[in-house]
Amino acid sequence: MILIKTHILNPLNRFETEFRKNVFLTIKGNRIHSLSDQPDDDHWEDYTHCVCLPGMIDAHVHLSQFRIRGKHSSELLPWLNEHVFPEEARSSEPEYADVIAREFFQDLIRKGTTTSVIYTAPFFSACDKAFRIAEELGVRALIGAALMDVNSPEGLQQKTDTAFQESVDLYHEWNGKNELLEYIFSPRFAPVCSPRLMKLTGDFASRNNAYIQTHLSENLEEIKLVRSLYPEVSSYTEVYLKNNLLGPKTLLGHAIHLSDSELEIIKKTGSKVIHCPDSNFFLKSGQFPWSDLLRFEIPFALGSDVGAGTDLSMFQVMKMANYRQDEYIVSPEEAFYLATRGGAEAIGKDDQIGAIEVGKSADLVFADCRDPQTRESSDILSELMYLETNQKINTVFVNGKIKFQRAR
Ligand SMILES: [Zn+2]
Repeated sequence: MILIKTHILNPLNRFETEFRKNVFLTIKGNRIHSLSDQPDDDHWEDYTHCVCLPGMIDAHVHLSQFRIRGKHSSELLPWLNEHVFPEEARSSEPEYADVIAREFFQDLIRKGTTTSVIYTAPFFSACDKAFRIAEELGVRALIGAALMDVNSPEGLQQKTDTAFQESVDLYHEWNGKNELLEYIFSPRFAPVCSPRLMKLTGDFASRNNAYIQTHLSENLEEIKLVRSLYPEVSSYTEVYLKNNLLGPKTLLGHAIHLSDSELEIIKKTGSKVIHCPDSNFFLKSGQFPWSDLLRFEIPFALGSDVGAGTDLSMFQVMKMANYRQDEYIVSPEEAFYLATRGGAEAIGKDDQIGAIEVGKSADLVFADCRDPQTRESSDILSELMYLETNQKINTVFVNGKIKFQRAR
């Protein structure tokens, strides 16, 4: 049992954050066992110089692109060809995949992200390695190997049946192997996936109630390309609909340039959207239609989209979420909700993570805070979101265990 005295910032909903000062929090095993104003014991660990947040959730990130953050290009399609594909090809070597997975997860934990939804390079060994390192380090993750079987560079393009079978093998090997790890089927995006590969994947995932992630309508040139490849289909979203890729466990990255009829399809199928504002700035992809998503009541979460995103810090992503909107004002409370409880809701894990409540998994971030006793929650959240983000993370727990503690 661990007993901690601290101040808790807990997202209640999209617009409200509860701030409880001088709370005694106990962790028993991997769960939050109690929250009270009085200690059960005389010996507690003092974290009253910090605020305690739920572990943050990065719902869209590319592990194998970790080292190409900040490599400039004009926009999405040239950037994929100039930087992403050559770098992902390097992960065909297991030694390289091992090194990059370690670097990635260590940075992720250090920045307070306790759950991540990950694409790896399109190799069985690279994805398997990512799972092994995640298991060794004890982090929570959904991981999938990118699928691509057409219009792709040599070295990355797979044969349809091999690509599908390797993903199925990874699913059987890793999905639910321990309580922290799950497989997510990851057709990269329509331009590099054949209809047969998408359909095989969609059908398998729906039979097995498995997760799917892909990219949708990030960039105008990409949309033109999809139209030229699928002239008989009336929209990009319908390409995924026809191939059985949409559903309540499908996470659609970006979803920027969408018609009302596409939003309607996303809503009806129960699919979720992941907004990646830092990446949208970097690749000049466009402005996420925040108000439209709210109007259609489509749940969405936040992702770093590293390597097009430049930093794994979800505080950075929260900041960019507000900066990227010309008119919609993203409050610190709303950004915080999306990086925590809202993220958990989007990936269907809000019964386990995303908030600080008795019975939930002890995925916790302690961030340094000046004068927490005298300040309001909005002031503290605003500071976390806009200032010196990486320096503030003091200690990180995943599933009841300390995974990062800054040297004192
Ligand atoms: Zn992405």
